[in-house]
Amino acid sequence: MNVILLGAPGAGKGTQAKMLQERFKIPQISTGDMLRAAKGAKTPLGLEADKYMKTGKLVPDEIVVGLIEERLAQPECKNGFILDGFPRTASQAEALQKMLERHGKKIDAAINLHVPEEELIKRLLGRKREDDNEKTIRNRLKVYQDQTAPLVEFYRNRDSFREIKGLGSIEEIFQNLEKIVSSL
Ligand code: AMP
Repeated sequence: MNVILLGAPGAGKGTQAKMLQERFKIPQISTGDMLRAAKGAKTPLGLEADKYMKTGKLVPDEIVVGLIEERLAQPECKNGFILDGFPRTASQAEALQKMLERHGKKIDAAINLHVPEEELIKRLLGRKREDDNEKTIRNRLKVYQDQTAPLVEFYRNRDSFREIKGLGSIEEIFQNLEKIVSSL
C-alpha cells in the first residue's frame, strides 16, 4: 500500500505517519526528517537545504525529488510506503507520478489531514524545533497556502483521495487513518 499523507505544517502528519509505520510495517518517508539528518551530518546537500529550511522556504524540487527517488528504489519500500511531507509542489507531484509509473506502481490513498489555521499556529508555537519561531512559522504556512494547498485540489479529484479531521486526540485521528489504510 502506497500512501501519501497531505496536510499543513503542524497538522500531525509526522506523528500519524510514524504510528502507521508501526501498525502496518511499511516505512514512513519524511523529506523533512531526511533533510534534517543530512544537515546534522553536515553533508553538502544538508548544508544547502538548511539555507531554505531556516527561513521556512521550500528546498528546491531537484534536491527532494532526488532524495525520494533514491529512497523509493530501496527494497524496504517494495511492500509500500507512507509519504510524509512530500510532494509539496506540483512539480514534485509530477516527478512522483513519473517515478511510480516507471516502477509499475501507483498511489493507493492520498489522505489529507485537515486542521484549521489557528490551531496549526498554536501547535507549531508549542513545538521546540529550530525552524518553529513565529516568523518562520508564518512563512511556512504562507508557503503551504501558496504552493502546497493547490496540490490537495489536484489529489481531491482522484478516487484515491480521502480527507479526515486532524483535530481531537492523537488516538482518535489514528483510528480514522487506520480504517482507511486497512481498507486498501
Ligand atoms: P517538515 O518536517 O516536513 O515540516 O519540513 C521541514 C522543512 O524542510 C520545510 O519547511 C522545508 O524547508 C523542507 N522540506 C521538507 N520537505 C520538503 C519538500 N517536499 N519540498 C521542499 N522542501 C521540503
